[in-house]
Amino acid sequence: MSRVAMTPRKLTVLSLAALAVCWPLLPDFTVSVLASIALYAIVAAGLVLMTGIAGMTSFGQAAFVGLGAYASAWLCTSPHIAAAWPPVLPPTLLPWLGLLLGLAVTLSVAWVLGAATLRLSGHYLPLCTIAWGLSLYFLFGNLEFLGGHTGIGGLPPLTIMGLSLASPRALGVLAWLVLMLALWALANLLDSREGRAIRALKSSRVMAESMGIDTARQRIRVFVLAALLASISGWLYAHMQRFVNPTPFSLNIGIEYLFMAVVGGSGHLWGALLGSTLITLLKEQLQDLLPRLLGASGNFEVVVFGLLMLIVLQGFPQGLWPSLARRGQRLVSPFMSLVGQPGASGATGETLDERNVEINPPASTSPPLTTDPGETLLDAREMTRQFGGLIANDKVSLSLQSGEIHALIGPNGAGKSTFFNLISGVDRADDGVLTLMGQAMAGKPAREFARLGLGRTFQHVKLLSARPVLENVALGAYRSGRAGWLQAMLRLDRREEAATLHRARFQLARCGLQAHADDAAGELSLGQQRIVEIARALAGEPRVLLLDEPAAGLRHLEKRALAALLNQLRQQGLGILVVEHDMDFVMTIADRITVLNFGAVIASGTPAQIQQDPAVLDAYLGGVLDE
Ligand code: ADP
Ligand code: MG
Repeated sequence: MSRVAMTPRKLTVLSLAALAVCWPLLPDFTVSVLASIALYAIVAAGLVLMTGIAGMTSFGQAAFVGLGAYASAWLCTSPHIAAAWPPVLPPTLLPWLGLLLGLAVTLSVAWVLGAATLRLSGHYLPLCTIAWGLSLYFLFGNLEFLGGHTGIGGLPPLTIMGLSLASPRALGVLAWLVLMLALWALANLLDSREGRAIRALKSSRVMAESMGIDTARQRIRVFVLAALLASISGWLYAHMQRFVNPTPFSLNIGIEYLFMAVVGGSGHLWGALLGSTLITLLKEQLQDLLPRLLGASGNFEVVVFGLLMLIVLQGFPQGLWPSLARRGQRLVSPFMSLVGQPGASGATGETLDERNVEINPPASTSPPLTTDPGETLLDAREMTRQFGGLIANDKVSLSLQSGEIHALIGPNGAGKSTFFNLISGVDRADDGVLTLMGQAMAGKPAREFARLGLGRTFQHVKLLSARPVLENVALGAYRSGRAGWLQAMLRLDRREEAATLHRARFQLARCGLQAHADDAAGELSLGQQRIVEIARALAGEPRVLLLDEPAAGLRHLEKRALAALLNQLRQQGLGILVVEHDMDFVMTIADRITVLNFGAVIASGTPAQIQQDPAVLDAYLGGVLDE
């Protein structure tokens, strides 16, 4: 999507074209190494998606390769199947049926394993992948009908329209085509609404849920997709070797797949190919070299791999692909500028300058006023939340009307963020009644709050910091899209995607940050990142907006612009609840103020009333509010 990635990609396409031209001339040995690289890279590409991009580490991927290989091996060689096979059907269909069986088995196993283990967080998930990686490996070796530890031989070659793919040279072409197709589909997926949701999984699941993403479902789908890719690789492998046994599906190999994904560049799809190439070539070399050096044979290359991975990741924590791509680009960019391709726009001027630019909102960006002015949007009654012995919220009641800016203030630790989390579904109250748009919300997840029209920002900014600002804002529009995974992979979502990006751009412009649309979000100042979060919330076209300290880190003019934006939103009928420490800001924008102290409401009223309230002045030690 970004121009930055264009040039290395072009280089890669050129190399692939060169490979295609040379393919018939290469020696047999080179061809079989290249074919294995493609088979490895198909698995590694799934792992890059799952581990590098969605943040779920798996050591057990080799087991899914095994499922794909064994399913087809069994189907193609079982005497029962042969006996039941209708004579009208050509036996060359068997391997293709084997592919379907492998995919079906992998889908079911991955779904069940995913449902059982993906809820785990931290180190438990990787540990579980080791456990089922081992289990499936031993299962392959112990099942009589799968040939035990000797395996299954005599597999037929693949045939496509009468053409036999018996030689590695022929099958290698198919393997590379499958790899390219997989990389293309995955790249498309990542450049879509669902791709943004996948990236959000790693960044923060709380944030993702608040954008309306069902993170549990999304994680399972990523997991299953990676498993299916592994399964396809296993099927190709089985029909290339024409023989399967448990060894290539062991935990050792599972770890190698992870090496490939991580060393190449865990966040970059092309890193999968780079990693598989490096590891495969290295393995070939080491298998020759180490026995000669050490005078003994054994699996010493595993030790060397481990050490190398440590060294590589010390120097290149993002894997090798990003720095290689940068270098390639530096090499090529002088030529590119000669042919008139401009560099990335580095506009970092004062964001306020663009504020005066007139913006004509596209029709879809002005949400219809579905609320009457003064209608109660959100009503919290006696919300209580305890953390151990600490009562963070003690029977807090607060209501929010449409067309109102309601400020929630109080000293640090008063319980403001806790209350935000309760009323946005991020945290559960121990007691109290919460209604949103007239619906009882007890026990509902954050994405249900989002569905009813609640948008929020976070006190501790939760953005995809390595991704462009515009993509972050577009993430907020997740719910308004319809295109699913398959549509995205096949690029059938382009119209919807263009509309989404258009809307995101509009919200970004409205917040004065259009000049930063293509910058990585993490490069902005913290104040600007807060504004990006507001734009992201607005992209969801909310009716209730919760802002946790939006003005923190903003300069004076930026605060004025923020106040103007909030006023405009209020006029459109939004209900805005804002936590803020800057009292000047609060007193100028708020219609009503609720004051929390030690978890309890000590006052509620207009700014004028609050400024006179003795309990409030006391809580603030008499100073702050007099300014
Ligand atoms: P505020 O946003 O007003 O500064 P918070 O709502 O963040 O305050 O915190 C209120 C109190 O609850 C603090 O004493 C804080 O330490 C405590 N607290 C907040 N979240 C948790 C948690 N997840 N576990 C334990 N204590 C918490
Ligand atoms: Mg707070």
